[in-house]
Amino acid sequence: MTAATTYLEQVRAELVQRDPHQPEFIEAVDNFLKTITPVLEKHPEYVDANLIGRVVEPERVVQFRVPWVDDAGHVRVNRGFRVQFNGAIGPYKGGLRLHPTVNLSIVKFLGFEQVLKNSLTTLPIGGAKGGADFDPKGKSDAEVMRFTQSFMTELQKYIGPDVDVPAGDIGVGGREIGYMFGQYRRLNGYQAGILTGKGLSYGGSLARPEATGFGLLYYTDAMLQANGEQLAGKRVKISGAGNVATYATQKATELGATVLTVSDSNGFVYDENGIDYQVVKQIKEVERGRIKEYADRVSTAEYHEGSVWDFDVDYDIALPCATQNEISGDQAARLIKNGAKAVAEGANMPSTPEATAAYQAAGLLVGPAKAANAGGVAVSALEMSQNSERLSWSFDEVDGRLKGIMEHIFKASADAADEYDLGHDYIAGANIAGFSKVADAMMAQGII
Ligand code: NDP
Repeated sequence: MTAATTYLEQVRAELVQRDPHQPEFIEAVDNFLKTITPVLEKHPEYVDANLIGRVVEPERVVQFRVPWVDDAGHVRVNRGFRVQFNGAIGPYKGGLRLHPTVNLSIVKFLGFEQVLKNSLTTLPIGGAKGGADFDPKGKSDAEVMRFTQSFMTELQKYIGPDVDVPAGDIGVGGREIGYMFGQYRRLNGYQAGILTGKGLSYGGSLARPEATGFGLLYYTDAMLQANGEQLAGKRVKISGAGNVATYATQKATELGATVLTVSDSNGFVYDENGIDYQVVKQIKEVERGRIKEYADRVSTAEYHEGSVWDFDVDYDIALPCATQNEISGDQAARLIKNGAKAVAEGANMPSTPEATAAYQAAGLLVGPAKAANAGGVAVSALEMSQNSERLSWSFDEVDGRLKGIMEHIFKASADAADEYDLGHDYIAGANIAGFSKVADAMMAQGII
């Protein structure tokens, strides 16, 4: 055992002792710790400075009550969070999630991932995440508005254009950002740079809704090309039918692939001829319906209940775009049996540790979430730049920059893997490349 591995074991033991009830957070930190030993061996000063012990501890955690009144006049209470994880390289930045499963473990895992992801984009943004255990499903517009106004009434105390700039995530799209922006403005006056993912009429950026899904495909294409392959002609399985999945379906189709599936938490649709993203957009974005309705509108599609990862069909590339831990070890074995040769993660931490181990044992190309889905936050940072300049860039300009950023993220991850002789381990490469800048900044700033 080296000094670095002993040190990492100590950091982990302390974390587990402090936060035994935060499995998702521990899983995200474990994914990172597993890959970082070579960096500590090269930089023993990081061990002396207990840098990893500090990196895995959020700078600030805010938890608050969110009271609101439902349409029947009942007073409801949800729990809100903002975790400002690391601000060493810039203002905190990261999405807000509204889903009944949100708790401190989930928000901390997402915040931790966000630190390394934001660093990988090369843009000057620190990492944060937030949200509440509110379920927008089945709520009226008026209820969503009252909830988000109450949420922002508290959150506004902790954010600012140069302090912390939230954005969307699961359950938070254009409607929710609009209500939150309106409430912030009532309380503090107009400040364009307070949130990203805004509507175009009040400071939003072109290509922000598309950014995570498009970026995922730019990353995937770069990963395939570096390995002598290409996206055109490939058969792709996508999970989810939300923001990321919808625009991933669009870009995959535009790049010549066939998307066989999309899903939601009830079931999935399968169409051998390719999923029509316009129909998905209409059902999910406009009508806020269920993916089952797709099969009522497209005669060649079949609807099945259950997980898309339990469905056998031959395909080449898996793009999980729904939620954390959606692919188990058994489902990963099935994915490999179905012929998939690459996985690129649109959702955050969609693969369990067992699934990741199975991909790696089978030699699949794996694009980890913090690299492959960084397009959303990258364009959010471009939205902040446009707000500061009081200018709006064209769709092509933003999309072109997004493509450049995603290609750079792939290259930086591949270069880091090369530097440490890790072959095609883009998971380790992304962790190392993302960590390097944060480590430099923290070392320069003293014991913070
Ligand atoms: P949306 O709310 O737009 O969509 C989420 C989709 O995933 C829905 O189809 C939803 O189905 C499905 N889903 C959610 N939870 C589960 C579950 N437990 N089991 C099965 N399906 C589920 O969210 P986004 O598309 O924005 O986010 C998807 C993922 O991408 C998340 O992991 C998010 O953190 C990540 N991400 C998002 C970014 C963004 O810019 N939006 C940026 C980077 C990452 P249902 O409607 O049934 O709940």
